[in-house]
Amino acid sequence: MIIVLKKDADPVQVTNLTALLESKNIKPHISTGEMQTVIGCVGDVTHIDPTLIEALDVVESVQRIQEPYKAANRKFHPLDSVIDCGGVKIGGGAFGVIAGPCSVESDEQILSIAQAVKAAGASLLRGGAFKPRTSPYAFQGLGAEGLRMLIAAKKETGLPIVTELMDFKNIDLFNDVDVIQIGARNMQNYNLLKEVGAHSKKPILLKHSMSATVQEHLMSAEYIMANGNENVILCERGIRTFETMLRNTLDLGLIPVLHRLTHLPVVVDPSHATGYANMVDPVAVAATAIGADGIMIEVHNDPPHARCDGVQSQTPAMFAETMTRVRAIRETLADTQTQRGASCA
Ligand code: PEP
Ligand code: MN
Repeated sequence: MIIVLKKDADPVQVTNLTALLESKNIKPHISTGEMQTVIGCVGDVTHIDPTLIEALDVVESVQRIQEPYKAANRKFHPLDSVIDCGGVKIGGGAFGVIAGPCSVESDEQILSIAQAVKAAGASLLRGGAFKPRTSPYAFQGLGAEGLRMLIAAKKETGLPIVTELMDFKNIDLFNDVDVIQIGARNMQNYNLLKEVGAHSKKPILLKHSMSATVQEHLMSAEYIMANGNENVILCERGIRTFETMLRNTLDLGLIPVLHRLTHLPVVVDPSHATGYANMVDPVAVAATAIGADGIMIEVHNDPPHARCDGVQSQTPAMFAETMTRVRAIRETLADTQTQRGASCA
């Protein structure tokens, strides 16, 4: 349920209204936009009579949100959410570039890649330490030791870091991590989603499962948000279809769809979406042009010898070229873009 307030609503009466909601176990979520102020209600609203709320002086209207996702819904929070990722903002016009290897392999590897991607303009460093691999015989990541190396590269370069959490029992190792990635394979691991929702305030980069609909992706974001962590960034990385030319099938048309449905930022991962290093550049550029709030690209200093996802990894030189093109698109867009939520009723 959302409560739209009158334009010149008396602040004392608004406080009374939020206190009333809280007394009914509803968490009010005030969102002040240019056009209107909205109170989103999180919790069981079935026992609240909307006509009673609507009768209040400060209230313009009360609307039930029909969609099953509430906190993630654009109606609930008309303006774009801006997520602070260790000092780097993503969303609401702020564009994030996350780059780095699929997996952390050594101190030298992660540091040299971190320096290269930083020089090319990346704003965050990625690197997996706990890897979800299809084969139990494949490299599983360096675990705690890999995280130590990633954190050392963060200290050396100043880049905030993004890395995947597969099991909540490892959360204590993530204190110096800036963004927790929940991978495609864990998008519907509801216990993990509840735990990062309830016990972490860190931004969560939530990847789209290879077999989920957009609504299921949003419902997974809702799990995290309903449990207390509203810092969610969605990541499109393609899904499994009958097409075999690329590793996955990425529908870039979903980016404007998501921007209509949700206020959460949307990042595109062209590396897992395509599976081939030479396909990453055009898809990264297209994702930027269609309005993604960021991109995540796998970069390796020696792709043929990468322990994971070498075929889709750009070299630092390729990444630098992509960055030049992405920057050019961003500059062109900057002249024409307005706040997405500003015109939302
Ligand atoms: C990754 O980012 O390296 C990864 C495993 O991605 P996904 O979960 O999208 O397959
Ligand atoms: Mn990978």
